[in-house]
Amino acid sequence: MARIVQKFGGTSVANMDRIRNVACLVKKEVDAGNQVAVVLSAMSGVTNQLVAYCQDAAQLYDPCEYDAVVSTGEQVTVGLLAILLQSMGIPARSWAGWQVPIHTDDAHSRARIVNIETDQILSRMAAGEVSVVAGFQGIGPDGRVTTLGRGGSDTSAVALAAALDADRCDIYTDVDGVYTTDPRIVPKARKLPRVTYEEMLEMASLGAKVLQTRSVEMAMKYRVNLQVRSSFEDIPGTLVCDEEDIVEKEVVSGIAYSRDEAKVTLQGVKDHPGVAATIFGPLAENNINVDMIVQNVSEQGHTDLTFTLPRTDLPRALDVLEKIRTVAGYRNLTHSDTVVKVSIIGVGMRTHAGVAQKMFSTLAERGINILVISTSEIKVSVLIEEEYTELALRALHTAYGLDVH
Ligand code: ADP
Ligand code: ASP
Ligand code: MG
Repeated sequence: MARIVQKFGGTSVANMDRIRNVACLVKKEVDAGNQVAVVLSAMSGVTNQLVAYCQDAAQLYDPCEYDAVVSTGEQVTVGLLAILLQSMGIPARSWAGWQVPIHTDDAHSRARIVNIETDQILSRMAAGEVSVVAGFQGIGPDGRVTTLGRGGSDTSAVALAAALDADRCDIYTDVDGVYTTDPRIVPKARKLPRVTYEEMLEMASLGAKVLQTRSVEMAMKYRVNLQVRSSFEDIPGTLVCDEEDIVEKEVVSGIAYSRDEAKVTLQGVKDHPGVAATIFGPLAENNINVDMIVQNVSEQGHTDLTFTLPRTDLPRALDVLEKIRTVAGYRNLTHSDTVVKVSIIGVGMRTHAGVAQKMFSTLAERGINILVISTSEIKVSVLIEEEYTELALRALHTAYGLDVH
């Protein structure tokens, strides 16, 4: 007998038939003699609609009220699954985040889980009841509902698995595992039987939304036995595991892309000590995370500075930069929100040379201009024009020998 957490995403609970399918997948684990906790997302599209309502209500809305609105989608699906399980003769009950309780910090709309009280759920599970827990939500120190950022029910599931000391955490979704890149864009993408926590963390943070970044961080920290698999097909998925558990290592194991990027260039910036702090300080104070940065060679005491930031933060960043125009001393500002960040990821990069060079030459052969580059130990990212996304992903996928054979 094992203790397991099963998480089902939006497409897996998109309508009543799909929730019935979920009930069957839960029943299978119960029938196998396992103790089961289930974490659900809202029906696909629902959270987007709820976010849109908030944006329609006010441009600068109160994040506490945003959380009150957007957390409702999950309450519908957990209740429905509990009813369906009960009607199949399986004892079950739904849990809202505050009922568990799942305690978070007070960062409304992007809260972090601080602690999960498991006593009640553990004793109910031991008595044979399935706990159906609303993903994406918790309760803040102010006693109000919080949400964990988009895609946050992955994190709810992994955190619950860690807190319950579960033997497995299975993430059921609309793809049958983690692929070398988004299979919806590159048809030749290959399913990875295993991926390291580190690579998965980079892939998630660089745009592969199959798992929320924080869920991978948490799985890595608490050594959660994490698997991504399909809700629709009963086939093995992808195991997220330690590097030692992977026999065949590729130099590049995945390619990710993120459309959530914008680029700003400041031209004619006076090149003197402290200028970067003058520009990036006020952006940081306004919670705007700058990502890639390049500074051109200085000419006659002036330079150009280009950087990227989340696309959603561009209007606020432009506002901040306009206000500091005189102190920052730049001549001209240009910006673009039609750029995309493409990244290659692989632990093998630590020991192989020439990996980045292959990326640059592959893109050059396709006539794709690289706007900004950044690297770390196990990834190389480039910023390119959005219109070349598919072309770049497919070309790189082939160049690194990742295409399905
Ligand atoms: P859920 O609603 O189940 O949480 P998501 O839409 O959040 O599902 O995540 C699954 C999607 O992630 C897939 O449909 C796929 O398009 C996308 N995706 C992006 N990169 C990858 C990748 N490397 N492997 C698998 N899926 C990926
Ligand atoms: N329903 C939430 C969202 O759409 C959480 C999730 O699906 O993980 O972001
Ligand atoms: Mg998701």
